[in-house]
Amino acid sequence: MTVKLFYQDPYQQSFEAEIVEQNEDEFGYYVVLDQTAFYPTGGGQPNDLGILGDVHIVNVEEVGGQLRHYIENYLPEKDRITGEIDWNRRFDHMQQHAGQHLLSAAFEELLSYKTVSFHLGQDTCTIDLDIESLTKAEAQLIEKKVNDIILENRPIETRWVSEQELEQYQLRKKLTVKENIRLVIIPDFDYNGCGGTHPSSTGQVASLKVLDWEKQKGQVRVRFVCGNRVLQQLETKHQITIQLTQLLNAPEPKLSESVVKLNQQYLETKKKLKEANENVLSLEADSYVREMKEIDNQVIIKLLENKEMKDVQYLARQVVAKVNTSIIVLITKNENKFQIVCARGNKVEASMKTLLKNALELVNGKGGGNDSFAQGGAEATLSASDWKKLIEEVMRK
Ligand SMILES: [Zn+2]
Repeated sequence: MTVKLFYQDPYQQSFEAEIVEQNEDEFGYYVVLDQTAFYPTGGGQPNDLGILGDVHIVNVEEVGGQLRHYIENYLPEKDRITGEIDWNRRFDHMQQHAGQHLLSAAFEELLSYKTVSFHLGQDTCTIDLDIESLTKAEAQLIEKKVNDIILENRPIETRWVSEQELEQYQLRKKLTVKENIRLVIIPDFDYNGCGGTHPSSTGQVASLKVLDWEKQKGQVRVRFVCGNRVLQQLETKHQITIQLTQLLNAPEPKLSESVVKLNQQYLETKKKLKEANENVLSLEADSYVREMKEIDNQVIIKLLENKEMKDVQYLARQVVAKVNTSIIVLITKNENKFQIVCARGNKVEASMKTLLKNALELVNGKGGGNDSFAQGGAEATLSASDWKKLIEEVMRK
């Protein structure tokens, strides 16, 4: 059994150890030591990283009771080796983990909301609460409570206890383990069974910020950061704010107002553009109507380039509204698909649905509609002009 130095002193950053075993499993090469300061993945806390001799550790896991340090290559054969943990990473984990204990304890103490799980992520952390919803006022209340306890700089103690001794403590969660029970205690606030590493006082958590929360499978997932991550978050968000103030040419307090105004302008412009587009389409419809009169034909088939389907539909409806004895067939090509719209004026008896069906049958197309208006499409296996010819033939029948 490897002696777990991180339990004796979570602040120990380097150590000497004897190599007990070097081997390989499904995860790669690993080394087992007689003692270690490297924390293995467990209890919601990610593993430590660092170096052993001059080899980088890529992972630390407890496999079948054995604490394995995964390395890129076997270490040179020697008895003793020095290990040095990546302290920034470890201390960050200690801050997040202790912060989580405080957050979960505050939710339970003040609101009786139970934490069901904890995730310590690379950028942010989350806890899942066994509740349907959370209000802003509740989140603020809890955040304040946690930061008050951080400021009070209460001790964080760890204690190994027997199953019998457990009865003296008001634990948050019933424990499943019966031996090697380790409690993390913040006196008069939180008693928790936990195998993680923690700072020795709440003050070292520095601060906790609740970022946001969302409903997740009947629970509420609360996202938060502690310690240096609060500063990192502030820095990231501050940089974004600076960019936005420059892009919107507005001071920070006016950013929202500025975006609302910009959006209003966009909607107005969009409306005007729609009107202008409809005017253009209406003029185009007029030109088709003139053409029909010139060639003395009430049927018109047109091939259009790069037109949106909704514009094609609008155009067809305009023409048949202007000449109620007309039939118009519009074909448009978008990417590798042809689309077709058939419309008739209200004095025409021929069914557009049937017309479309007959045309699409020949090209494996799909479509639908009713007797007065139908639309469909097909893969563009023919050239546009061949498509037009095909429709013309169908129309002639
Ligand atoms: Zn814990």
